[in-house]
Parts: sequence; structure tokens; C-alpha cells
Amino acid sequence: MRIVDIQVGSLVLPLAHPFKTALRTVDHLDDIVVRVIGENGEVGYGEAPPTAVITGDTKGSILCAIQDFIKPALVGMDLMDFEAVMEKLNGCMVHNTSPKAAVDMALYDLWGKVQGKPLYQLLGGAKTSFETDITISVNPVDEMVRDSLEAVERGFHTLKVKVGKEGTADVQRMAAIREAVGPGIKLRVDANQGWTAAESVAIIKAMEDKGLDIELVEQPVAAHDIAGLKYVTGQVNTPILADEAVFSPLDAANLIAIHAADYINIKLMKTGGIWNALKICEMARQHGVKCMIGCMLESQVSVAAAAHLCAGQEVITMADLDGPSLCATEPFPGGPIFEGAAITMSQDPGIGVRFDAQWE
Ligand code: MG
Repeated sequence: MRIVDIQVGSLVLPLAHPFKTALRTVDHLDDIVVRVIGENGEVGYGEAPPTAVITGDTKGSILCAIQDFIKPALVGMDLMDFEAVMEKLNGCMVHNTSPKAAVDMALYDLWGKVQGKPLYQLLGGAKTSFETDITISVNPVDEMVRDSLEAVERGFHTLKVKVGKEGTADVQRMAAIREAVGPGIKLRVDANQGWTAAESVAIIKAMEDKGLDIELVEQPVAAHDIAGLKYVTGQVNTPILADEAVFSPLDAANLIAIHAADYINIKLMKTGGIWNALKICEMARQHGVKCMIGCMLESQVSVAAAAHLCAGQEVITMADLDGPSLCATEPFPGGPIFEGAAITMSQDPGIGVRFDAQWE
């Protein structure tokens, strides 16, 4: 089946509350959406958020990459020659992982629809439902305690707490949250590169000494500081999860080779889509490294693609797919069902989210 067109649009959605990390504050989603059209008229959908502080991709760069490079490379190719299409997508330009991810997931959506199967089944079919954590933004401590309690009330069993702006004050922050939510709730800490290696060791050891029972600490040091990441991983008992340090399968191979982190956070906007994410999953499986599936601030369209990858792959044991729960709007019909912490796969073919009515 020939790919006859690749079209680009935009999607703006308000968030229920502002999203704050050590790197930025955001109050709405403003994403690029893509549709890939097959010669039978069937359509596959994708989405990419412009997360310039992490991926370097902006709205304008995503748009140009798709229109000027990716579309001319792929239109006319036979979708069922899937490997060749994916090699072309990844080879037509370097970097630009967000536009590649948007087109990659639209191709997978269409590929699943052509075969009449939900994508997660074609990606391994490991599970039909799983739970996501929810992000608690970095704020004054009393606000974070309130947000944490509210998340627990909404049925979330795992909180991913954003820290990394105030060094050792982050220990007090986590202690207050642990005291408020009690021992039954899993707490993940995401420093978003906010600490030096020495600070990380001091802060994480202090959390260990206080018995805060932190499940993992995500990206404590700068993305490029692989030596620092390895040092922290070697010095503390709490598992360390690499996020901004791992984009590509090559990054993952380098990290695994020197055991610079215990876990890897896979995000489609970093890998350039499902095709490369599967390569990381395979490496992680071979080396016994657990993976998390994460997302940027994305709507249900692209988070649904990540959910299919998570449900497909056994090696992805942790999910941070709270994008749709952070939006203030009603969900689009079709695809995986996001209900509080629970994500349940549907039998809709492909990724399954029906998005035509929202197309601009
Ligand atoms: Mg992170």
C-alpha cells in the first residue's frame, strides 16, 4: 500500500494545572499533529510536542522537518515494506527526533490498521493493562503535599515528584510528601538534571538515611555528564533512572556498557519513535535492564502510541504516561483508555485514537 500524503496540523489543549519542572513552566499543550494517508484512504495519526529544552525541537523545526525532508522521502513508498520505510525515515536527516516520532507513530498506526490489529499485539502483546504514575510539579512544599494527597485521592499509587531547584531542601520536600501520603504509595524523584554528582550522592543518601523509601531517582545530573551519572549510580543504593542522558539506541548501548544507570526512561520524542524504542527494549532485555516508558507534555494521541509500546513490551515495567491526565479537556474517542492511574488497551486497530474531528 503506497503512502500517498503526509499532512501536518496543530493541536492546542489547556492543562488542568500549570506543569513545573526544574527546566520550565507550561500551562497548555501546543503540539504538531501529523496524518499519513495510504492509497486505500486509511489514515494514521501522530503527534509531537515542541520540547525545545529537552529535544531541541520547536514547532517551526518540527513542521519544516516533516514538510521539507520526511514527506518528500516517504511519499510513494510501500508501507508494507515497513523496514525500508523506517530506515528511510531515520536516514533522511539527522537529529529531529520529535518530527520523526510523530511520523513513525502515524506509520505504525496505519500499519496496524492495515493488518486489522491493535498495535500492542503487533509489538509483543505482553499486557492488556498497566498503571501510570502521575507527576507532582515542583512548588512550595505545602502545595506539593496538597497535590500529592489529591493525586492519591484520584487513585494514583505512584507519584513522580519533580525536584532539583533547591539542592538539599529537596530532602525536606520528599520527607514532607512521604509523611503525608504514608508508606503505601510509591515515590519516584525526578531531578531533571538539577544536581551535581556530589550533590546527588549527598541528597540521595540523606533520603536513604531518613528511610523515605524512594523507588528511584531520575536524571540527577546533567544529560551529558555520563561519568557523573555512573558515579552516582555506584555510590547510592536507590536505583538511578537515566532520562535526558539517553535518546538513541546508541546512547542506551553506551550507558548499559558502563552501567551508568540502573534503569532507562524511553520516550518516543527522544528515540524518534517506536522503531528505535524497540531497539532499546531489545538491548535492555538482553542485559537485564528495566525500562520506564515516559512522555513529554503530550496529548492522548502520542501518549496512546507510547501506551501500545508499553503494553507490547515485557521489559517496560514502569509507566510515566500521565499526559492525558494532566489535560483539562475530554479525551478523544478510541485507542487505549486513560482512567486515573489505569491504562487499558482497546481492540481498536492500530493506535486507535480517532482524531479526524479535531483536525485543523
Ligand atoms: Mg524525566
